[in-house]
Amino acid sequence: MISFSDARKQVMEQVKPITDIEQVAVADALGRVLAAPAKALIDVPNHDNSAMDGYGVRFKDLSLDQPVGLEVIADLPAGDRLTKPLGGGEAVRIMTGAPIPDGCDCIVIQEVVTWEAGGQLMVPPGQKKAQHIRRAGEDIAKGEKVLPAGRRLGPADLGLLTSLGLVEVACYRKPRVALLSTGNEVVEAGTPLKPGQVYDSNRSSLRGALQSLGVDIIDLGLVQDDRKAITDILARGGEEADAVISTGGVSVGDYDLIKEVLINQGQIHFWKVSMKPGKPQAYGRLGKALFFGLPGNPVSGLVVFLLMVRPALIEMMGATPEPERILRLPFKGSHRKKHGRMDFVRGVVHFDGRKAPWVETTGPQGSGILTSMSKANAFIVLPEGPVKLKDGDEVSVLMIDYG
Ligand code: AMP
Ligand code: MG
Repeated sequence: MISFSDARKQVMEQVKPITDIEQVAVADALGRVLAAPAKALIDVPNHDNSAMDGYGVRFKDLSLDQPVGLEVIADLPAGDRLTKPLGGGEAVRIMTGAPIPDGCDCIVIQEVVTWEAGGQLMVPPGQKKAQHIRRAGEDIAKGEKVLPAGRRLGPADLGLLTSLGLVEVACYRKPRVALLSTGNEVVEAGTPLKPGQVYDSNRSSLRGALQSLGVDIIDLGLVQDDRKAITDILARGGEEADAVISTGGVSVGDYDLIKEVLINQGQIHFWKVSMKPGKPQAYGRLGKALFFGLPGNPVSGLVVFLLMVRPALIEMMGATPEPERILRLPFKGSHRKKHGRMDFVRGVVHFDGRKAPWVETTGPQGSGILTSMSKANAFIVLPEGPVKLKDGDEVSVLMIDYG
């Protein structure tokens, strides 16, 4: 049995990031990984523009100690521009975002001006040169690198890319991940269960987890605990996918055939990890594909996916890993463990704003109790060796992240 951290290190060492690159429309690029830094094609903002609704004036027309009357010669909503330079004694009505006319070097906000009976605009003293003007390139200068290669694009990134004038970006190809479940007792939902049968919940939650991650999924379905069937399906996965994920059949039971087939068809690196849930796992290789054999227990499968497989897939996507969100929080309730494995207790971190965040367990922690994963937003991480927790103890908490 190897430790959790050694197991994770070994898995990460096996991963080769995908290097194939394709052009992706920005509109379709949510969750995609940039293969090259995104550079601005234009200045952002593209032109000097007004930061306020008000009046554009020439600073040299103003006085330091008394109001000055100016003639408003044009109205400039955002999107319009003045084609001639602003002359002596002239002002323009200007809206936020509208381009600054030539000659104009000061915006006077509309709240401070007054009007003469003859329709002249009166500007009070105390204005400053260049006030309320946003300069071209002030946010981003043309040619500047705005997002690094390896960035997984989020919604704000898409807006940013569009603001730079980009329509397409170079991204790494998405990993193709094959998914299958095994078990003679496992059946597809949609038919009544016969005694001893369970619905295939693993493929459902893992498919969701893979969708959140944004990989391409090859659904290999459900196979019986049959040497030939498993051999055939793993061969297919090894040919078509960059990674193959199976659930079930990695323990020491009579029908646990995954390890055996993996040894015959590929390579196995390790299969027992000192963690709970998720002790039995099978890691290895099928041809060019990485192989992740997850345990069949629904909680164990998801926990192992999140802690071992997801970081590996993020690396495979070519993405720069984001730091894990780890907190030290006060524990509420009581909890005891006697076993020597590292424990990932399903927990709920409460952020209610009335007091500092705190964490409690989701309740019963059996590895078949899928409600514990459904309720959880975090793992309470307990070290190897016995642990006894009581109210107020400080614990390490790892926030759960599927995306
Ligand atoms: P195994 O790892 O194959 O020994 O399975 C461990 C436990 O998980 C057994 O109780 C199985 O019935 C259950 N199990 C295995 N595969 C699935 C699945 N795809 N969906 C739901 N439960 C499963
Ligand atoms: Mg099984």
